[in-house]
Amino acid sequence: MAEGKVWVRRDREKPLRQKHPWLFSGAIAHAEAAQDGELVAVYDSRDRFLARGYWNSKSQIQTRILSWRDEAIDAAWWRRMLSQAIARRDLPAEDTACRLVNAENDYLPGLIVDRYGDWLVVQALTRAIDARKEKIADALLDLTGIPNIYERSDVEARQREGLSEAVGALRGAEPPATLAIKQDGIRYLVDMRRGHKTGFYLDQRDNRCLLRELAADCPKGARLLNLFSYTGGFAIAAGSGSHAVHVDSAYSALGLAEANTALNKIPAANAEFIQADAFDYLRHCVGAGERFDVVAVDPPKFAAHKRQIQRAARGYKDLNLHAFRLVKPGGWLMTFSCSGAISRELFQKIVFGALVDSRRRAQIVRQLGAASDHPVALTFPEGAYLKGLLLRVD
Ligand code: SAH
Repeated sequence: MAEGKVWVRRDREKPLRQKHPWLFSGAIAHAEAAQDGELVAVYDSRDRFLARGYWNSKSQIQTRILSWRDEAIDAAWWRRMLSQAIARRDLPAEDTACRLVNAENDYLPGLIVDRYGDWLVVQALTRAIDARKEKIADALLDLTGIPNIYERSDVEARQREGLSEAVGALRGAEPPATLAIKQDGIRYLVDMRRGHKTGFYLDQRDNRCLLRELAADCPKGARLLNLFSYTGGFAIAAGSGSHAVHVDSAYSALGLAEANTALNKIPAANAEFIQADAFDYLRHCVGAGERFDVVAVDPPKFAAHKRQIQRAARGYKDLNLHAFRLVKPGGWLMTFSCSGAISRELFQKIVFGALVDSRRRAQIVRQLGAASDHPVALTFPEGAYLKGLLLRVD
């Protein structure tokens, strides 16, 4: 198919020159023969080549950039980019799960690929990736030798691209109901078909390891509150030395948290699974005078857009205020926000506000982010969605 052409408005060229990969509709002066899902060459106002990307008129981000060089975006290009992304991962050999392609951050806008054992799970977030997913699957199969490739393109972002959901096997077999993966010596069951994201929160890997270290230094039987537990991640990583209270609103997630507890030989008596709204449960604990050595707070995204920031900030403040109240003096709070619209600075301010109201004192011991298989392109600050704080609370 013939390549289209796009001209950028002169006053909007700078981010593109600085290699930001998104070109919004308002930045485009004019387009010629651009077709949804197809390649376009991008020119500046003086008709000089700037970059090459793909087009979708239905999206606000009308062009996503693939290359700033005047090069062919052909099968060899895709293969090279996929191969480079995969080669960047250097995880322990015993590990069977990791993110292989982190979309814009691996210079492949709109494409996510996660590995779980003998399965790859692909998310095609844009029309151009959707149109090329069969070829991408062929290249992935060839590069990794992993025989089963499953698609989990059931994400809201696709609506903005004019796409419906797509779920199913691209290559090989359908995934089992759950698959046991191994990360840092810990085993987790992953539901690739119905689980969140592609099945597991791979981004929290390093923070789980950190929590394991903290728990190891706590006295035996230390109490750990795992709010928004999903399938148990943080408390499973902490192991059998502590008593974990997992809280999640989703019954199915708690079922897997319980199964993960058994899988890692954590005695059943050392874990509780509570289906509840985390906000309510926190209030209940404060009312009952409960105390924990470690509290982990890892809520879902509260702000999907800038206009939801205020409401999200109230949610984060409420959670952290009550969480502070529950931490034993000298204990730990590990708290997160995965809302892209909330900056690290703002998140810290919100947590500070919660601390003031709780009348406690706390130290930031670490700034937290996503694991190293979720790199963030420095040219793409939007990629740094996950931010967290490890706080010692007095
Ligand atoms: N910490 C987890 C990931 C958390 S994802 C891990 O390490 O894997 C966020 C979780 O919050 C989801 O499992 C979702 O079911 C749950 N959730 C969303 N809203 C909630 C609420 N109001 N109360 C309790 N849990 C909630």
